[in-house]
Amino acid sequence: MTADQDPNNWLRAAHLDTRARSALATSIYNALTSARKLADHRVLVYRCPKRCLLLDVLLLPDGLLIATPRYKLSPRVNEASSNEAGRRKHTEDGGRRWGAQAYFAQDAAGFSLNCDHVESHHLSQEAFELDMAAKRELVTIPA
Ligand SMILES: [Zn+2]
Repeated sequence: MTADQDPNNWLRAAHLDTRARSALATSIYNALTSARKLADHRVLVYRCPKRCLLLDVLLLPDGLLIATPRYKLSPRVNEASSNEAGRRKHTEDGGRRWGAQAYFAQDAAGFSLNCDHVESHHLSQEAFELDMAAKRELVTIPA
C-alpha cells in the first residue's frame, strides 16, 4: 500500500491548499482506478447518452472527490471558452485536448461536462447538490 492508498493519509487533505488538495485528489483517484476500487466509493456518476463518463463522484473519508476524464473540444468552442495561457497550462497538447482532473467538491463552483457528444454542458453547483440530495446514482446529460 502506498501513502496515497492509506485512508489515514486522506485526512491530510483538509490542511492543504487548493492546488495541493487537487494533486492529492488526483493521486487518490489514480490509485483507486489502478486498484479497481472506484465502484466501492462511487455515489453519483454523470454520463452522456452514449455512456461516456462525464463526471465521477466518490465519497471518501475526506469528503466528496470529483473526477473528470480527459476530453477534446471542437475548435470553435475551444477558442470561445479558453485563452492561450489556459490552453498552454491545462491541455495535453497546447490545443484542444484537455487533461483529466480530480479535486474535492469543496473546491468546485459548478462543472463543465464534455465528451465527443456533449460539449461544455454547464452543471451548476446547485443542480449538483440537488442530485446529491436526491441520492441519484446516475444522471444522463442530453447530447
Ligand atoms: Zn459521449
